Amino acid sequence: RIDNRLSVLELQTIAIVTSPYGEKFAIPRQPGLVPAARGQIKMQGAFNNPDCLAGLEAFSHIWLQFIFHQTAAQGWKPKVRPPRLGGNAKIGVFASRSTFRPNPIGLSVVRLHGIHSERSATGTQWFLEVSGLDLLDGTPIVDIKPYIAYSDAIVDAQSGYAAQAPTMMPVRFSANAEAQLVSMTNAAELQTLITQVLAQDPRPAVQQCSSSARVYGVRLAGLNVQWQVEDNTAIVTAVEHC
Ligand code: SAM
Repeated sequence: RIDNRLSVLELQTIAIVTSPYGEKFAIPRQPGLVPAARGQIKMQGAFNNPDCLAGLEAFSHIWLQFIFHQTAAQGWKPKVRPPRLGGNAKIGVFASRSTFRPNPIGLSVVRLHGIHSERSATGTQWFLEVSGLDLLDGTPIVDIKPYIAYSDAIVDAQSGYAAQAPTMMPVRFSANAEAQLVSMTNAAELQTLITQVLAQDPRPAVQQCSSSARVYGVRLAGLNVQWQVEDNTAIVTAVEHC
């Protein structure tokens, strides 16, 4: 018998995400927008068990269900202002992908590159290598499921106010930022990651229309990245280790 009056359900953290996003600002608003955002899903406790993952390696993409742990304590409201509507118009929380939800649960599809383990004195740790993340570093995962194309991909779906993918902003690097990058290992990968992240124009919606000399900064992949927007182009001015 299923008790459909169930009102409180305890969820277990089955894994923790390692991602390049050290803070909420500048994380893309949906998965797949920044393919260069690679990360790991680190299995936890009883779920750090290869039996739980057997067969998953045959799937190119997986669904992650996770907790918006950084904003969960802030509660929710019935209506929210999605950034896609310029931060002014309100819609119902269930018509949105807002992080402020009655149950702070998120859902993202990511590319699965592989599954591997590492041995240490304390035992074997299992990891899923993924990309296209839109999750903060340290996000708790509560479920993983394979993405099933024939059922999950609906090519003629209507997407309301989010019918079009967000427009991309051109990104350039100043001579100073390029010189700083060149001295780093994985310079090319870092440049691609920064470019894809800033192309989303992470500025708050209210600041997107204004043109100013304001300098923005974000922690990304262990770096402090600074940029300005001029003539609708993001110009990276500094890339320094945090
Ligand atoms: N794809 C998911 C969904 O639809 O449920 C997430 C969409 S939500 C709009 C994506 C935003 O969640 C990111 O831009 C970031 O600001 C925020 N975010 C990501 N991880 C978070 C976390 N652990 N706690 C709070 N906010 C988080």
